[in-house]
Amino acid sequence: MKLIVVLSSLSFLFLLEHYWPLFKGRKHHFKHAFPNLLIAVTNGIVIAVFFSGLTIAVIEWAKVHEFGLLRLVSLPTWMNFVLAFVLFDLWMYLWHVLLHKGPLWRLHRMHHSDTEMDTTTALRFHPIEIVISTTARLAVLPLLGLDLIHLVVYEMCLQPVIFFHHSNWSLPEKIDSILRLFIVTPNMHRVHHSQILKETNSNYSSILSIWDRVFGSFIHRKDVLAIDYGIGYFEGAKWQKFWGMLKIPFVLSLKRRQ
Ligand SMILES: [Zn+2]
Ligand SMILES: [Zn+2]
Repeated sequence: MKLIVVLSSLSFLFLLEHYWPLFKGRKHHFKHAFPNLLIAVTNGIVIAVFFSGLTIAVIEWAKVHEFGLLRLVSLPTWMNFVLAFVLFDLWMYLWHVLLHKGPLWRLHRMHHSDTEMDTTTALRFHPIEIVISTTARLAVLPLLGLDLIHLVVYEMCLQPVIFFHHSNWSLPEKIDSILRLFIVTPNMHRVHHSQILKETNSNYSSILSIWDRVFGSFIHRKDVLAIDYGIGYFEGAKWQKFWGMLKIPFVLSLKRRQ
């Protein structure tokens, strides 16, 4: 089911950005997608082999032991659902802020190194980042007291939204501005992929856009077409290939544009 949601939303947004792109003149849409998709398959295997069973086990353990924040109060089912969704999305925001700090940034910068951000960039995460993020999630799930259905629904929403906000689809600003009152949109996330450090360290939200407003990390740019994507040091073609991407965390020093 998750695979169907992933593949259908990915292909739909890939087609939209192919025929109605914001940044025009990119000649290698398919070629650009290939290494990102290869990374996605690698990460998919890592998750399936090491984490799927563990995630279910941890959630079941918390359920049997009546453990977790959401189990402290008895709420109507729908309210429990909403609260689980909002709390988990808050965790995603906080974790993303942490990914921009210290050694975690080394891993996460692989996601930011894409010079031609599009739908497939949503799949471009270093496998070690995936392992660390999924491990951290194993601790958060029981602490929050999420049920499996809460996680499944959250992920079903997350996948299309992250494909959407990474896409190069030229959604009119008017529609984008209304949508970003609620969810993260392409014009909001484009700023996050800017080469300018202050902008990279903004707009961290995953689904609900409110977190950046609440925590003061929201930045809006009207001139989205002037945004320069990527990280200067990793602009070269070798860093955009599968093996180059995997090496990105291990490059020792580089200067960032302030
Ligand atoms: Zn980021
Ligand atoms: Zn991104």
